[in-house]
Amino acid sequence: MTIKLFYEDAYLKEAKAKIESLEIKGNRVKLNLDRTIFYPEGGGQPSDRGIIRGDRFEIRVEKVYGKDEIWHEGTLKGRKPKAGEEVELKLDWKWRYENMKQHTGQHILSAVLKDLYDSNTTGFQIFENYNKIEIDFDGKLTWEHILKAEIKANEIVRRDLPVEIEFYNELPEDLRNQLRKDLSDKVKPPIRIVRIPGVDVIPCGGTHVKSTGEVGFIKIMNFYKKSKNIWRIEFVCGNRALRYLDELLEDYWRSLDEMPNKNRPLVERVRELKSEIEKLEEEKKALRLELWEWKARALLSEAEEIGGIKIVGTVEELDMKDAQAFVVYLVDKNPNMIALVVGKNYVIFAKNRGVEGVSMRELLREVLKETSGGGGGSEVLAKGGGFKVGPEKVLEIAKEKLKQLLQV
Ligand SMILES: [Zn+2]
Repeated sequence: MTIKLFYEDAYLKEAKAKIESLEIKGNRVKLNLDRTIFYPEGGGQPSDRGIIRGDRFEIRVEKVYGKDEIWHEGTLKGRKPKAGEEVELKLDWKWRYENMKQHTGQHILSAVLKDLYDSNTTGFQIFENYNKIEIDFDGKLTWEHILKAEIKANEIVRRDLPVEIEFYNELPEDLRNQLRKDLSDKVKPPIRIVRIPGVDVIPCGGTHVKSTGEVGFIKIMNFYKKSKNIWRIEFVCGNRALRYLDELLEDYWRSLDEMPNKNRPLVERVRELKSEIEKLEEEKKALRLELWEWKARALLSEAEEIGGIKIVGTVEELDMKDAQAFVVYLVDKNPNMIALVVGKNYVIFAKNRGVEGVSMRELLREVLKETSGGGGGSEVLAKGGGFKVGPEKVLEIAKEKLKQLLQV
């Protein structure tokens, strides 16, 4: 059983401890200590990082976990530690202190959302750059709701109220009635209660700052509906809030600066660009049709005719998707036509639906026999690729095979 020093004092940055047991694999090591200042991941708060130092060894702690026994996992430098040895613990305080601000900020925000909208917080997670809570909320959550909550939450920050930690073996009835969230049956005594007087009372095992002023600032970044009456809210506190906002604003202004018209709001500039793209797409479509018509005319003038069937063949620079669109257009417009289109690494054979007596799939099969490669398709359209000969040669073989099939 590891004594959790962070329960009593979240501001302990250094301490001494004894190795109870350990596992070593190469330079990866896991230590179970008799006491620790390292918070194990849990309750939405990520695990602490830091250094464990002993006589001629040092461990960079990357992950901390466990409930009764707390394990500290990381990379070992120096000699192998042994059970029973004394070590010095040192937290990555910058990381922990920011997490404490985020966690306390969550208590404040959750209490405000409960107070304003009777919303319960059903989930919480601290990430590297932001935090996420899930709340129940009937109806549509709007930026207006959010602003109201932010103003109230930041008022609590500014009032610099104490964040008090109390331990109970059994909760008095009147305290039980004050809790924002019912106590889970899984919680074993001593029960740890976190109280912000007049704001929030809740059982919690995390690490918190000692007064709300230390949270600095609470900012909601985003919110969206997750499922029926469950909403996700992304928020940040403290210095992370400033960093997040700076990144967002930098992105915003740089994006606006990229626009032909640099006046706010950005959303209107984006809509302008979108409608411009749509207009260009329409123009492109019209031009493409015109091009296809000219191309079709040129191909038709060179078409060979066998038994009333017009055969056109061409080697194309187009990519396969465009070539297929063109071939379909070509054979649909022209009764009695078979088109053979060969690109750098593909062929498309297509016929007008009215053409009888020859299958494009069969034609492709015959061509593949001489060119190798693969492919398949239907009666009216077949595609293949991976040939060992060049496009001109493939086209020549295809024409030959088609003539043979038509004359059978
Ligand atoms: Zn907490």
